[in-house]
Amino acid sequence: MKNLKLASLNGYDHTRTVVTVGDVKVGEDLVVIAGPCSVESEEQTVITAQKVKEAGARMLRGGAFKPRTSPYEFQGLGLKGLKILERARRETGLPVVTEVTDPRDVSWVCEYADVLQIGTRNMQNFSLLKEAGKVGKPVLLKRGMYSTLKEWLNCAEYILAEGNPNVILCERGIRTFETYTRNTLDLSMVPSVREISHLPIVVDPSHGTGKLSLIEPMSLAAIAAGADGVMIEVHHNPCEALCDKHQAMPPQMFSGLMKKLQWLRSHMNEMNWEMEDKSQEQAL
Ligand code: PEP
Ligand code: MN
Repeated sequence: MKNLKLASLNGYDHTRTVVTVGDVKVGEDLVVIAGPCSVESEEQTVITAQKVKEAGARMLRGGAFKPRTSPYEFQGLGLKGLKILERARRETGLPVVTEVTDPRDVSWVCEYADVLQIGTRNMQNFSLLKEAGKVGKPVLLKRGMYSTLKEWLNCAEYILAEGNPNVILCERGIRTFETYTRNTLDLSMVPSVREISHLPIVVDPSHGTGKLSLIEPMSLAAIAAGADGVMIEVHHNPCEALCDKHQAMPPQMFSGLMKKLQWLRSHMNEMNWEMEDKSQEQAL
């Protein structure tokens, strides 16, 4: 793809980017990011953070600025929410992934976030992308719900071109004619991204399907397709969630899913080692 000077795979050097967040290596480790859709209270966020940490999540997610379809829906707690996330990080040691929606907020949100999330509705907010490119913080760039792979990678290019190499892509589903699921989770993007870009990619099956029953199979499928991780919405008490309650996973179910993801990833690694050994034997 033309003009992807920094986001595309260099013709000779196929090294993939590893984005380091604390002791987490995105692009190398199995990275599960989990937590509530939105930060609602200290109790909700800290309890959920503790539960996902116990289950094996590597990062905590939670929105303090919520881009909602209606202006009358809960918009997030803003600065208060960021302070709650800071507390949850202190309690659990989990790095925090949180969304920024306004270019004017980027520099001060960085004081609270370990990873800045740019959501689907803002994927092509070029002034936001440029601001995120000017700070050193890793950026999780979600795919626009109407965007092609080329448009998505060009948005990553905006961040990279400002001097920030720490971009993580996140497939979160696109709008199609299907209405059974909230979005159509396009898992073909995982191997497609790996074919043409060196950037790590994670998958968000919570927004990708909007249905609790579909999150586990699609998470496993994402890892089988080669994703570097998944991002899952977990709430300690889903029926009380203020946002996206139908896709909120209870902690016990999340813990079962974590075990399956770890099992799958370790068997995929074994399979790759065996195949490497065989090809080396054949070469001798
Ligand atoms: C989110 O992850 O909190 C979110 C709002 O997702 P998206 O931008 O993909 O809708
Ligand atoms: Mn949500």
